[in-house]
Amino acid sequence: MFIEIITVGNEILAGQTIDTNSAYISSELRKIGIAVHYHTVVGDRPERLLSVLKKALFRTDIIIATGGLGPTVDDVTLETVSRLTDKKTIQQAKLLKNKVGTAPGLIISWQKKTLIVLPGVPKEMASMMPEVTKYLKKKQKNKTIIKTRIIKITGLAERIVSRRLKGILKIKGNPLIGIYPHTNYVDLKINAKAGSKEKAGQLIKQAEKKITQRLGIFIFAKDEQTLEGKVGELLRLQKRTISLAESCTGGLTANRLTNIPGSSKYFKMGVITYSNESKASILKISGPLIKKNGAVSPEVARLMAKGIRTLAQSDLGLALTGIAGPGGATRTKPVGLVFIALATDEGTICRKFNFKGDRTAIKLKASEAGLDMVRRYLTKPCEHS
Ligand code: ATP
Ligand code: MG
Repeated sequence: MFIEIITVGNEILAGQTIDTNSAYISSELRKIGIAVHYHTVVGDRPERLLSVLKKALFRTDIIIATGGLGPTVDDVTLETVSRLTDKKTIQQAKLLKNKVGTAPGLIISWQKKTLIVLPGVPKEMASMMPEVTKYLKKKQKNKTIIKTRIIKITGLAERIVSRRLKGILKIKGNPLIGIYPHTNYVDLKINAKAGSKEKAGQLIKQAEKKITQRLGIFIFAKDEQTLEGKVGELLRLQKRTISLAESCTGGLTANRLTNIPGSSKYFKMGVITYSNESKASILKISGPLIKKNGAVSPEVARLMAKGIRTLAQSDLGLALTGIAGPGGATRTKPVGLVFIALATDEGTICRKFNFKGDRTAIKLKASEAGLDMVRRYLTKPCEHS
């Protein structure tokens, strides 16, 4: 069953409205094991829409169009569809009630093809999707299940992840394994197709095993889980508490950790010691020592971590100090240089990073590396057993 989604609207072509409808429809269909083959965008011009519809009819079995369904002059979809088919076909169409707006949707059967016409307003379109999926599910011949698993990796650049996965990443075949980089981590998406949930699950498991063998500790979470969620879970399970002293990240790390519901169980305190004076007065680091080494140094990072751990009386103390840029670099200390220290009852570890990117990216990458240090510290015993 080949499917094409056509979104109609000048505003989408112009980039003024982002086409969220296609993404929504595709993901709803994917849930029932139906893959979409084409996304097409066309403006509110009847002749262009007509040519797009003809092409879609030629290469697919089912067309889902959204937008241009209303009663205004720029709404050309219905008029164009009736030009392509005929009035009678339209009259025999199945109506999709619009519970949140005015224009109803239509399911039109014509020359062994199906044309589904939906409104452009996302809420109205979405309200009709349950009926659309129900209809298409009935039409589906080989009932396949598509199962997806996302494996999240941090601490390795995309090109290194893909090098490590040589021979495993697949854009063809089953399961498909794709790589999708974000600023602070990399997603690996495994898509498995099978006749049953169990079989799809098995395919996912096999692929996951291979990936884990190659990436091990760099994998921090799966599917919906986030790094801060994982760190929170580890702290909660191990009944440990944490406190944070942040400089260059400006509280971002604390914000991420406290975004997790229930974080009050393990999050004790976060301070943003941005100035040298605050590092001295709050974290009790000697002024001359800061002056001698510079605020961005392993010595200061270590003392910040120890200082906040003592101040908050927590099991772990995490500290981040660095140069987020664009200014502030020196000959020996470039933009992106960040020291992250973790103080525990076993001592203090400190790592040096050189992040690339703009200010926001460096802050995000630094908070990621800090949280990942905590994750690795808490994971270690189980991972190496
Ligand atoms: P109406 O009956 O309200 O006129 P319609 O089917 O004619 O609905 P459009 O006029 O094409 O829909 O679009 C209405 C609004 O819906 C647009 O202004 C836009 O904000 C939004 N919209 C349309 N298409 C999309 C899309 N593909 N993705 C996201 N938003 C969209
Ligand atoms: Mg309209």
